[in-house]
Amino acid sequence: MTQPAERIKVSGVVLPDGEHRDLYVVDGRITLDPVADADLVAQGWIVPGLVDAHCHIGLDEHGPVTDEVSEEQALRDRDAGTLLVRDAGSAADTRWIDDRDDLPHVIRAGRHLARTRRYIRNYAHEIEPDELTAYVIQEAKRGDGWVKLVGDWIERDSGDLRPCWPADALKAGIDAAHEHGARVTAHVFGAAALPDLLAAGIDCIEHGTGLSTDLIDDMTARGVALVPTVKQLDNFPNYAAAGEARFPAYARHMRELHARRKQTIGAAYDAGVPIFAGTDAGGVLPHGLIADEVLELSAYGMSAFDALGAASWNARTWLGRPNWLDEGAPADFVVYDADPLEDLSVLAHPARIVLRGRVIS
Ligand SMILES: [Zn+2]
Repeated sequence: MTQPAERIKVSGVVLPDGEHRDLYVVDGRITLDPVADADLVAQGWIVPGLVDAHCHIGLDEHGPVTDEVSEEQALRDRDAGTLLVRDAGSAADTRWIDDRDDLPHVIRAGRHLARTRRYIRNYAHEIEPDELTAYVIQEAKRGDGWVKLVGDWIERDSGDLRPCWPADALKAGIDAAHEHGARVTAHVFGAAALPDLLAAGIDCIEHGTGLSTDLIDDMTARGVALVPTVKQLDNFPNYAAAGEARFPAYARHMRELHARRKQTIGAAYDAGVPIFAGTDAGGVLPHGLIADEVLELSAYGMSAFDALGAASWNARTWLGRPNWLDEGAPADFVVYDADPLEDLSVLAHPARIVLRGRVIS
């Protein structure tokens, strides 16, 4: 897919610092030294390539999908300005994407690790606690520095959300991930699973709708991140309705978590928990909705600067990727016609997308 390197120029207000600069791109990297024959391809507001910190390439609601469908998912993300994805668990092998210059960068968490018969069918390695450490090591080796656990799910006996793992298994599993250079994150809807996950040294919580003040304080003290997937939380009433007949306690619980979702996530933001944007595309939701997620984060009380940072420069820093459009940086950025910090809905209409130094659209 390699095409000739382009020599391009973009001019405008560069975020996050807000300074006006001319950026030149040569051989996929940014330079501030003027390049005489560079084509001016865009003027406006220039944002480091957007980040979807929680989606799933290679999954749909039934399980793994074909490479063609995975490609469509990745292209939809890219065309929305998402140039870096943290894949929060996929049953498909999408390693081939790394050879494609025209698709977003992907940081994988391997395949979800769930308790037996306690997750969406065909998604996870479904295992028991005595197998957790071995599977964590396997997925740490398979992924790109992350491992994904399903921290709570319906338990049939109690008919409600319950923690999936005992504390000692979590501690051993998370220690093993860290020894193998991987961070660990967990899907958690309720409150009960959170204390053991935090005590075991988890690095990130996905969804986090069960957070209380004490647990938020524990997260800030430990520097644990939160990817609340706020668009996805709109689906909680549907999950409640689907579970109502067999699991009325679960249905009540999900409605209660949904009713206070904005207070819960807003309290985490106010307390200083690092929050990142994740669309949770690839299960129920379609890909390409990063602009919607940023808008919804702002509706939860985040400032426009923090909501966009959660899907760009701050997420890049957290994921260990270049976060600043400066001399020598990889040329992954999006240009908008108007200032997204004045009106975040601008994000739905990228004027130019440049990935690996090439104009994508
Ligand atoms: Zn997910």
